[in-house]
Amino acid sequence: MNYTSTRDNSISVSSAQAITMGLSKNGGLFIPTEIPEVTMDEIKDMIGMSYIERAKKVLSLYLTDFTEDELNYCVNGAYNGTFASKSVAPVVNIDETMNILELWHGPTCAFKDMALQLLPYLLTVSAKKTSDGKTIVILVATSGDTGKAALEGFKDVENTKIIVFYPDDGVSPMQKFQMITQEGQNVNVSAIKGNFDDAQNGVKKIFGDAAMAEKLAEANMMFSSANSINWGRLVPQIVYYFSAYCDLIKQGRIELGEKVNFVVPTGNFGNILAAYYAKLMGLPVNKLICASNKNKVLTDFITNGIYNRNREFFTTNSPSMDILISSNLERLLYHLQGNDSDKTSALMKSLSETGTYTVDADTLAKIKELFECGFCDDEGTNATIKNVFNSNKYLCDTHTAVAISVYENYRKATGDKTPTVIDSTASPYKFCASVLDAVKGDCGDADEFTMVDELSAYTGAAIPSPIANLKGKTPRFDKNICGKDEMAGTVLSMLGIK
Ligand SMILES: *Cc1c(COP(=O)(O)O)cnc(C)c1O
Repeated sequence: MNYTSTRDNSISVSSAQAITMGLSKNGGLFIPTEIPEVTMDEIKDMIGMSYIERAKKVLSLYLTDFTEDELNYCVNGAYNGTFASKSVAPVVNIDETMNILELWHGPTCAFKDMALQLLPYLLTVSAKKTSDGKTIVILVATSGDTGKAALEGFKDVENTKIIVFYPDDGVSPMQKFQMITQEGQNVNVSAIKGNFDDAQNGVKKIFGDAAMAEKLAEANMMFSSANSINWGRLVPQIVYYFSAYCDLIKQGRIELGEKVNFVVPTGNFGNILAAYYAKLMGLPVNKLICASNKNKVLTDFITNGIYNRNREFFTTNSPSMDILISSNLERLLYHLQGNDSDKTSALMKSLSETGTYTVDADTLAKIKELFECGFCDDEGTNATIKNVFNSNKYLCDTHTAVAISVYENYRKATGDKTPTVIDSTASPYKFCASVLDAVKGDCGDADEFTMVDELSAYTGAAIPSPIANLKGKTPRFDKNICGKDEMAGTVLSMLGIK
């Protein structure tokens, strides 16, 4: 199977090349040129498999230039013994139609681990095939969770270095503490004075900078990306949609072939795009429900076909979704416009020049057929955390609460009784202050780890060991901060390049 670019259909590369490069020329994203099909019989076979076996099955369809041994090495390394739950991504039933897919049992307690435990393996195996011994420099812009998950995944991985930029005021105290205390010889972390979009734009600019690429090449290095623009981040996420579906069958909640809804708390559109690929491959999906917080650029887009980032940016209590430019939407647009890279390029050009674009009526109709959408502000998020805890004894984080709230409104409005899976994207302990505030009321100015203990005492929910183990760690990177226009210089100095 080959991969091409959303902005240039003449490009054709292998999956190993797509994963090593991360981003294509002209800022385009790599997409597969065909979508592999999974039959109902194959899904039936997957019901009895472990998560690791299900992952091998799905990945083998996309990474056709990987040998079976290579895939085994990657998938076993990523998921064998690294997740606190034996099933890796368990499905928990809440009520008649609502089920929660817990994606946060990995080493950093956020769903990013699902992909970022695997990506370093995919990338180093890919690099062996394609990059003649160059050191891979992973550049990451993070809204909080990707940064830590990538640092943890790439820590001390041979022939790699990783540099993470996070918005100074845009991450939770726990997220920041997780990053600035990161261990490992090949890691570096810096705050930037700006928001997530500034960090992401800065990283994209560095990727597109020919002079920077040349400087790295002279030092026998090359850039790659661990953000969800990298295909190697996206493909592992397709797996858990198949896995959740199989688990629902196993639990007797659905019959093989029955359709389900997926509700995804969305920021960069990576997670929900993976669900879209699962549907294209043949997974029986009714609606993909895109949940946003107060930064509801996607709700508006799915409603009226106009993407407009020229609006106020809100800092919310679900910070990993505080995003106005959802990069992976580009992949969806490419597919819905008949795999047309000219049309996609034109929209992206309009986005970068004017901050807005409008899709044609045909594309909007396709979007509405596939997606439902909604948003939830901070008050609604808090009320949902409290309600779900009081009525179902289930404690969820703020991002998951956004999704539950959007789903409850959808269910009320439509009466849709389709069995539904809601992606739970982080442990409540990553957003302790907000969650404690929601279930218990004002939590005062207690320090982060006091709140962790308080939340556990109040709710009885177990503290994940990666959070408990952070207590008392000494910060390494707390002094690093740069302007949003100084990121390239920061990268070079961190790499020791003049
Ligand atoms: C990254 C993240 C999201 C958003 O996921 P996208 O793939 O960017 O849409 C939602 N919730 C949490 C907790 C996250 O870390």
